[in-house]
Amino acid sequence: MKIGVYPGSFDPFTIGHLDVLKSAAGLFDLVYVAVLNNSAKSPVFSVEERVEMIDRIIASEGFENVRSGSFSGLLVEYAEQINAHYLIRGLRAITDFEYEFQIDAVNRHLRPEIRTVYFMANPAHSFLSSSNVREIGELGGSIEGLVPSCNINYLRERLARQK
Ligand code: ADP
Repeated sequence: MKIGVYPGSFDPFTIGHLDVLKSAAGLFDLVYVAVLNNSAKSPVFSVEERVEMIDRIIASEGFENVRSGSFSGLLVEYAEQINAHYLIRGLRAITDFEYEFQIDAVNRHLRPEIRTVYFMANPAHSFLSSSNVREIGELGGSIEGLVPSCNINYLRERLARQK
């Protein structure tokens, strides 16, 4: 069984992330969307809130081979625990590529048997990031079309309170 992990901050999960997830779910037998538990990044949403939003997306998209999870520490160790041999990442721009290039070198050094698969962002989403969504939401702008619709009301209220 081919198992992949799609790791990220997902603070919050956007339609850019969804696009990558749909492609990955079509390629792998099972995909774990894994929220990084890293307080150093000062996330706006708690791990529980981010996992809850991902669970809503899994249900509303009807994904049968996608699960949510969270991890702290080394990603390759988490991958090993859940028996995943593939890491999944999305690439929007050259800056993403440079960062991913370094991370891949480190992960390969740690676990050469775990490989990373990259999906190019849909050009329509190449400027979309979680931080854009947070900023627009906090300033009261419309986040429609930027995040999966099942989370819009929750995010609107939650980000307005964040201001
Ligand atoms: P991280 O903190 O690990 O970069 P993110 O939640 O920002 O976490 O992103 C997770 C992954 O999804 C990364 O590989 C990132 O490049 C990718 N990604 C983020 N936004 C988009 C997008 N709009 N289209 C495609 N991939 C994206």
